[in-house]
Amino acid sequence: MTLELILRDLPWEGDFDYEAECILRLFFPGEKIAILHQPQTPEGDWVSVELTPQGEGVAISLGVQLNSGEIQARDMVLPSQAAVGGMEWEAERRLCLLLFDALCQLTGTRPPWGILTGVRPVRLCRKLLGELGSLSAVREALIQQYQVLPQKAELALSTLQAQKEILAGNTRSSYSLYVGIPFCPTRCLYCSFVSHAIDKAGKLVPDYLELLCRELEEIAAVASRLGLELRTVYIGGGTPTTLEPNQLTRLLGQIETSFPLSGISEYTVEAGRPDSISREKLKVLRDFGISRISINPQALDDVVLRAIGRAHTAQETLEAVALAREMGFDNINMDLIAGLPEQTPGSFAHSLEQVMALNAENITIHTLTVKRSSDLRASMGADAYDSGAYSLADLLAQSQEKLRGAGYLPYYLYRQQGTRQNQENTGFSRPGKEGLYNIYSMEDAHTILAAGAGAVTKLCGAPDKMRRGFNYKYPYEYISGFGEILNRKRQITEFYKEETP
Ligand code: SF4
Repeated sequence: MTLELILRDLPWEGDFDYEAECILRLFFPGEKIAILHQPQTPEGDWVSVELTPQGEGVAISLGVQLNSGEIQARDMVLPSQAAVGGMEWEAERRLCLLLFDALCQLTGTRPPWGILTGVRPVRLCRKLLGELGSLSAVREALIQQYQVLPQKAELALSTLQAQKEILAGNTRSSYSLYVGIPFCPTRCLYCSFVSHAIDKAGKLVPDYLELLCRELEEIAAVASRLGLELRTVYIGGGTPTTLEPNQLTRLLGQIETSFPLSGISEYTVEAGRPDSISREKLKVLRDFGISRISINPQALDDVVLRAIGRAHTAQETLEAVALAREMGFDNINMDLIAGLPEQTPGSFAHSLEQVMALNAENITIHTLTVKRSSDLRASMGADAYDSGAYSLADLLAQSQEKLRGAGYLPYYLYRQQGTRQNQENTGFSRPGKEGLYNIYSMEDAHTILAAGAGAVTKLCGAPDKMRRGFNYKYPYEYISGFGEILNRKRQITEFYKEETP
């Protein structure tokens, strides 16, 4: 199916293409959407949008023809109605609402986050709280003005409250360090990260590691010159524990030598795949003072694990956690994914029960997101977005109830395009065990200096001022273009110079 989105005579050139397309994608994930700036109405399924200045306001006209059904809708935005954010912003919101309502009627479905299509609903809540002054007013705005379902509004607001104290201790000069290890034991079917199976890319590891250590030295020197204060370190990927013990020692030794670690609040290593964990590797992590690890089974069901391309069993996860506990790790995150191939509600519930029985301090519940670059998308095409017969909203609501009943609270929340049934990803934790890096990074609370292939540095300055810097995506590019990677570190100094009054 190709859906044609026709935008006519917009007073703010190009501004509505993205928002209108995002709303369409809520209802038609994976479908082709053609954006046309033309006067004629085409054959087939189409959406047409027209915004016309009228007096001091803007008239919005919307037409949708879909599967032989047709809806026409109109709205008018006046300056007095556009107090928060201005005319353009209000016109965009009202257009999105018209489009959302029309598509709900024509498709018979209702996306749970309403017209919120961004990655970070909690940031919007924080902004609204600043403008409206109370949580109840924010709740009301989410439900009325954005059509968010009440249970999702509650989830976002609980997360906002959990982050309040953590973010309060943040300063303009604090930062976190991210280190990317883009290698994994095998590649998961749904993976969209830059990560290579170690049996194919293993020969790159020695060179990659040496250059990564040089990049870390450079980052440490820049951060020290600028007087930045390191808060957390996060080694992710990929699966960092794919590295051999001597390689982990090299990397962690470099970080220990280059960075002041004594005052940091959190030091995380993703030991994501149970089949990458050994006693020897965990000992290296303990010796270097890693305070938090992630062991991410995604499911504790061997049928599901096979279906997603994982080469480990549920039993291996249980053994890896037992080993980590025996070796003294007292802050373990475990990720689960709802909506995986071959998964049933019963199988997901059983996975959650087992993870809770392991007493994981953090439990992150993802919903399967189908990315264009994943093997899942390549093998199933647009069918990959079809999440089957059961309601993921119900499954997530039941999970949340169980987690809250056992003392876990939501502290971190994000959404992605292409997530099955438009659900979300939520990190839950025992109070005091929140994953700090996750919050700092997701909320753009402070600068993230990032090293490694595919790593993205985020420079955060004055409120809402943020600049991104990208490393080369793939390990072989990172190795061959390493000179440029070091050159780009100059951006950090330039950014902070601009920031200094
Ligand atoms: S463990 Fe993570 S990074 Fe590695 S292949 Fe699977 S989804 Fe991708």
